[in-house]
Amino acid sequence: MPGEGFPGGLRLPAHKEAAARPIALCPLPRELAIPLLQHAGSEGRPRVEPGQAVLAGEVLSCGDDPRFVPIHAPCAGRVSAIEQRPLPHPSRLSGWHVVIKPDHPEHIVSPRRGPPFEGGIEQALPLIRDAGVAGLGGAGFPTHDKLAHSRDWLILNGAECEPYIACDDRLLRERAVQLIDDARLVRRLLQAQRCCIAIEQPMQEAISAVRQALADASDIELRVVDGRYPQGGERQLIQAITGREVPRGRLPRDIGVMVMNVATVLAVGDALSGVPLTRRLVSVAGSGVQQPGVFDVALGTPMAVLIEAAGGYREPVKRLVMGGPMMGLALEHDQYPISKSCNSILLLGEAELLGVSTALPCIRCGDCAEVCPAGLLPQQLFHFSRAGQEARLEQHGLEACIECACCDYVCPSQLPLSAEFRYAKQSLAVRRSEQRAAELARQRFESRQQRLQRQAEERTQKLEAKRRQVAQGNEMQKLLARAKAQAHKQGDET
Ligand code: SF4
Ligand code: SF4
Repeated sequence: MPGEGFPGGLRLPAHKEAAARPIALCPLPRELAIPLLQHAGSEGRPRVEPGQAVLAGEVLSCGDDPRFVPIHAPCAGRVSAIEQRPLPHPSRLSGWHVVIKPDHPEHIVSPRRGPPFEGGIEQALPLIRDAGVAGLGGAGFPTHDKLAHSRDWLILNGAECEPYIACDDRLLRERAVQLIDDARLVRRLLQAQRCCIAIEQPMQEAISAVRQALADASDIELRVVDGRYPQGGERQLIQAITGREVPRGRLPRDIGVMVMNVATVLAVGDALSGVPLTRRLVSVAGSGVQQPGVFDVALGTPMAVLIEAAGGYREPVKRLVMGGPMMGLALEHDQYPISKSCNSILLLGEAELLGVSTALPCIRCGDCAEVCPAGLLPQQLFHFSRAGQEARLEQHGLEACIECACCDYVCPSQLPLSAEFRYAKQSLAVRRSEQRAAELARQRFESRQQRLQRQAEERTQKLEAKRRQVAQGNEMQKLLARAKAQAHKQGDET
């Protein structure tokens, strides 16, 4: 299914029912479980203790890693526990959570106030980090780290391409004026020559709101992009907007472009007004929920409370998903907390599930290659992965796979292609990290051997010097004795 901008992609039914109602406030739960790790980076350490009272907005964690991002208390309360709980992650690993029981639910973090931020990037970066800002589009990259490199192009990503997800759509409709102000601020910090906001063509109300907010301004362009999945992917959007392709193995910053999700832009504006990131917008959708909608939710709120705010379950739900139906993660229960990277909860019924469960052999139809937005050959990658041929996987560009699942969607044999690629990428990453660890161990061993050899040589040289010194001393004593004896002899003769 060819189109403009990037190769492949799919036109999917939108299912944006959640965008039909204004943003609603999700009530605070009886208990917030706030994961320490909500971003791509290191987890850090808790800086509160069980039993301690916390204020709304208080910092709960600290860390020394440059990519560390702290977490904050969304409301006033008391820390009831700091414990390991399962994380909503494909690895099913556990992570540390700070559990807070709200005691004054009305004491939440105040909205921004005060004059606009006038400082430069050096003052801005620590404020953005300390406010806990990480990418809200799903990947969770630490925003201060991304902003540390100046760029020519700033692209505000409002292309919400996955079906059902509607939080950016509602944000654009309701907060467009603030977004444009904050975009100007981010652009100034980055010293970007060009700035545009990209919105998908089917999001007509969002487009109108942004057009109105921009009025006649020409410093930020409004770019209406094709409604084709995965248009909102960073690389695909860059190609569609700038015509530049991010080379494999390189980052957008290597070609001078930054893509920032629209919710993240607002979070940066909040951070520079002294407001930490303690809430986010989450859409709740699918045939399994009573009232689909977009909710303003405190981080750490259990998904069950959010589903309840959307009217609760409607029919037997076949699958609960965090994220969209294409790239989302299937969950086994609704007790996971909302985190910074969770933009959507889906409650899918039988009719909304993609495909059947039994995979058949590949019939080499080539449909997967036609829709791959990364220009890969999924059927080949699948074969190499199943055969354990890691070198061939690397040669055929596995790293460029964005796990968009377009190939799964069209595969008539229902092969679990993207899941296989995710697994293969993780295995390769583990292998590389093992190789790096082995290389480090080898270097450490070699430098220890060299050090021991150097020390042995130094010891030998010292001993040799000492021996020479002693020998010289003995020689001198002999000479002195001889001189003395000769002097005695001469004395006797006279
Ligand atoms: S779409 Fe499926 S069946 Fe067709 S070539 Fe790709 S993997 Fe094989
Ligand atoms: S999941 Fe990977 S291989 Fe499949 S279409 Fe997307 S980018 Fe291509």
